[in-house]
Amino acid sequence: MRSQEIRKQFLEFFKSKKHTIVPSAPMVIKDDPTLMFTNAGMNQFKEYFLGNSKPKSKRVTDTQKCLRVSGKHNDLEEVGHDTYHHTMFEMLGNWSFGDYFKKEAINWAWELLTEVYGINPENLYVSVFEGTEDKDNLQLDSEALELWKKIVSEEHIIYGNKKDNFWEMGDQGPCGPSSEIHIDLRSEEEKAKVPGRDLVNRDHPLVVEIWNLVFIQYNRKANGDLEELPAKHIDTGMGFERLCMVLQNKKSNYDTDVFTPLISEIEKITNSKYGKSEEINVAIRVIADHVRAVAFSIADGQLPSNTGAGYVIRRILRRAIRYGFTFLKIREAFIYKLIPVLSEQMGSAFPELINQKELISNVIREEEASFLRTLEQGLILLDDLMRTAKTKKISGEKAFELYDTYGFPIDLTSLILRENGFELDEAGFQKELQKQKDRSRKATQVSAGDWVELNPLESNAFIGYDQLEAEVKIARYRTVESRKKGKAYQIVLTQTPFYPEGGGQVGDTGILMSSEGEVVEIQDTKKENNLIVHFTSKLPENPDADFKAIVNSTERAKTAANHSATHLLHQALRHVLGKHVEQKGSMVQSEYLRFDFSHFSKVSDEELEKVEKFVNERIREQLRLEEKRNMSYQDALEQGAIALFGEKYGDAVRAIRFGDSMELCGGTHVGNTADIWYFKIVGESSVASGIRRIEAITGTAALEYFENQDRILEEIKSGLKSAGDPVKAVQNLQEENAELKKQVESLLKDKAKNLKSELKQEVKSINGVNFLAKKVDLDAAALKDLAYQLGDELENLFVIFGTEQNGKALLTCYISKNLTSEKDLNAGTIVRELGKYIQGGGGGQPFFATAGGKNPGGINEALQNAESYLK
Ligand code: ATP
Ligand code: MG
Repeated sequence: MRSQEIRKQFLEFFKSKKHTIVPSAPMVIKDDPTLMFTNAGMNQFKEYFLGNSKPKSKRVTDTQKCLRVSGKHNDLEEVGHDTYHHTMFEMLGNWSFGDYFKKEAINWAWELLTEVYGINPENLYVSVFEGTEDKDNLQLDSEALELWKKIVSEEHIIYGNKKDNFWEMGDQGPCGPSSEIHIDLRSEEEKAKVPGRDLVNRDHPLVVEIWNLVFIQYNRKANGDLEELPAKHIDTGMGFERLCMVLQNKKSNYDTDVFTPLISEIEKITNSKYGKSEEINVAIRVIADHVRAVAFSIADGQLPSNTGAGYVIRRILRRAIRYGFTFLKIREAFIYKLIPVLSEQMGSAFPELINQKELISNVIREEEASFLRTLEQGLILLDDLMRTAKTKKISGEKAFELYDTYGFPIDLTSLILRENGFELDEAGFQKELQKQKDRSRKATQVSAGDWVELNPLESNAFIGYDQLEAEVKIARYRTVESRKKGKAYQIVLTQTPFYPEGGGQVGDTGILMSSEGEVVEIQDTKKENNLIVHFTSKLPENPDADFKAIVNSTERAKTAANHSATHLLHQALRHVLGKHVEQKGSMVQSEYLRFDFSHFSKVSDEELEKVEKFVNERIREQLRLEEKRNMSYQDALEQGAIALFGEKYGDAVRAIRFGDSMELCGGTHVGNTADIWYFKIVGESSVASGIRRIEAITGTAALEYFENQDRILEEIKSGLKSAGDPVKAVQNLQEENAELKKQVESLLKDKAKNLKSELKQEVKSINGVNFLAKKVDLDAAALKDLAYQLGDELENLFVIFGTEQNGKALLTCYISKNLTSEKDLNAGTIVRELGKYIQGGGGGQPFFATAGGKNPGGINEALQNAESYLK
């Protein structure tokens, strides 16, 4: 059965059990501070488990893109070395939100595996949670045990401990006991020797877990306690690639049709053979796996970068490049070439891969090229390090510097050192690494306390589209502590006019005013698992008082103008540059707006002008805002609304329209485009290969901008002391300047000529060599010229010049070619050695070399010592 078919059958099976098929959520998570990437199918439903919001349908099934490379679930180091862990994989799942529980979950899982997919029950093992005596003090899951006993023999039931059979997504959140289903894929012969049940959860490559049925009934609180959830839920996750391995009778995920097209392509591009050696196999598996993770993240809008999620993606890609570099000996970008095959393979299930093919491959190519440059540079530095080392052991500090400052990977350092008979001080390196980790942890450590509940939440908590003030109460609050900012508080209101950061727009600021007259400042507003959280450094005296929540309306109005202008800018870019323009990120705040989009070349000045003009025309047309709050996603798309990849849209969406611009958007906007006043682009730049950034301002900021420009112009005019056209005056100045430059150059040439004849008089003959050491006042280029000219005119010449330029010292040495062999003189060596007098160094060729240094006071001494080379 082909993988496409396997995926489809899973979804169809649960559809027949009254489940709604829903799309995968984005792999990159935006509104959960405890999680960077989706690591399980249940993440996108966390708010339902916690009761923060109500699902439209109580039974749901899907396939979810997951990434396990950070936090509690991190498989990165296994990937490639084993055959069944991936960084990015699909998790098939079925969910019950307070609907069915263990009985249905267990029976359906068994029915699907053994009857629909036809897996032999003899090869399956199931586990139940045995309970724990630690502080959670949990009982054996006898309910699951009894259910399993009805369908599987007791030899196939295993009792599992907390590590294997109590599932938690992270340090906090919904969790519960689980039953895992494992498969034994070994030969009959092997099975006869060791029974499968002895190998379950023992890292045997052919006895692996395929499905985990989690019975969600607790919430793990910040203080580590478990609290019973009001309703019980089912959360299951089956590894799609592992299921394909089973159903396609393979012994490795990489031998299924999910991976074979990629592997053939890697073999072709890198001219290597999968199966040739273990090292090559690992490298090919790493590359086949990692290209998926990186491509899916880029499609979800997460580009490789230096921080946060982007940095994790960059490290995954670099790991693949390193394996290619080290084991397949690849020295140029090649991973990007896999994108056509990948999008062909996965595109029908994940159309974002087809849609953004070009962007993905451009970004990867650029990253590869830049990391390869780093590697080449690192190799040179490492070479230097070995050449100048006093012992055969390289210190941890040096290796760390290479790693930290130049991005050179430590495993490569250690490999190359070993190949050259050197040793690395591993412990020293680890110590440096740990020091750095401690430093950054200290800088960012934040701990959140448990929520204190005061009042129930209203169901439709955000009312800030319609009003900027509201009578509210505090629903819950908690204390947070960070080393950087100290103690602070987070407040959830029963309902709120404060817009929480999202869709690129910053969160609202403002105040809470209690009925007793106390005022608390709200510094920021963010969304966390669908809760709107207000940030403040002060808690009201009486948190249970009545409050008036008041948004800072000036800031909000400016932000709204920038947000509406962003939509018009998006429309203008698609109009002027073409429909390939897609939003890749935006930042909307009161001072300015920033918009990133896909486009493959610099936006020219004329194009920018057109874009600006287009937006300003829409502003002058005074287009009224048309807002539709509860549209179905499909309807909105059919009416031409633009949706973004990597955004999570619910069933009901909000559409924002100004004239012909229509976007799905949750942000706040002006009521009429006239309120934007004026739109001015202030910057255009590149963010990554194929992605441009425009920065712009509107309203009062634009006004201030023009006032400032005007002031600058006035200053220029008064500086020019010319009453006429300032542009003309500047041109005149430039012409005059060019003329003066020419004159200076010709004067300098004359000076050099005179100098040359003077210097020729000073040449001394020592042992048949024409020698000259002299301090002169010329720049580096002129000195070189002079030295070469003397060399043309005098035979057997050894000349060394010293000069002082801008407080620095420079030595220039020229030696006639015949002398370099006859007298064994080497200009490179000489300047390097004499460099010590000027506290510097240099080098070059045997007949010409220069050295720079920071001590001009040593020039004379250097020159005096030059003669010693002739003795
Ligand atoms: P394992 O012990 O094999 O690492 P797990 O206990 O981490 O598995 P769960 O967190 O229960 O797995 O995830 C549910 C299912 O997802 C597993 O049964 C497995 O089929 C699949 N799975 C988990 N991690 C990976 C991975 N890194 N790559 C591919 N599939 C995975
Ligand atoms: Mg695992």
